Amino acid sequence: MTTSQRVAILVEDERQIRRFLRTSLEAEGFVVYEVDNGRQALVEVATRKPDLLILDLGLPDMDGVDVIRDLRNWTELPIVVLSARTGEAGKIDALDAGADDYLTKPFGVGELLARIRVVLRRYAAVPGATENSEIRFGEVRVDLKMRQVFRAGVEVHLTSTEYRLLGVLIRNAGKVLTHRQLLREVWGPAHVDNSHYLRTYMAHLRQKLESDPAQPQHLVTETGVGYRLVE
Ligand code: CA
Repeated sequence: MTTSQRVAILVEDERQIRRFLRTSLEAEGFVVYEVDNGRQALVEVATRKPDLLILDLGLPDMDGVDVIRDLRNWTELPIVVLSARTGEAGKIDALDAGADDYLTKPFGVGELLARIRVVLRRYAAVPGATENSEIRFGEVRVDLKMRQVFRAGVEVHLTSTEYRLLGVLIRNAGKVLTHRQLLREVWGPAHVDNSHYLRTYMAHLRQKLESDPAQPQHLVTETGVGYRLVE
């Protein structure tokens, strides 16, 4: 790591939320630039090349989802969105458009910082690096080279679809994946609306891998949005 400070751009039209977030982000070591509209956000990202974007979806001039779509044409910048509780559909659209995570207002600053750390850690890990041929969560160990899965030391047989689903969750560990993203990755673009496939196969995976499938600790539901693998 260099000694240069990390830069965050904070896009939010409510001044009070900006003030509260700025303080927390600065305490976390970020240099923070505040923006209160979508157009300015696009300009600031292009010029400042930040390490993180925190983006409110309800902006006065643009839909935050369109800001994400625009950015994803040219940058892989980590994006965490803030959404109002009533904006369920917007939140899912934001994730489908390429946001990394979301928080629903009102949220605690501890939760925000924890989410940011997970997102930044994922970006810091080199994609496709071969050193991680194994992943562990709970009692589960997955050998990615051998495509073998063990729970408490005993090999668990997964069908090829179950393994594909687990593989997508592992590659995105810590990140929330929408139903559509998972369906597209595992079953293909023609099946993005067949959410019953996903429910069925997620139930199978939990049955095989969770200590208490009714109270999953690792294959976690994001209500109304999708799923997340928590290590
Ligand atoms: Ca707003």
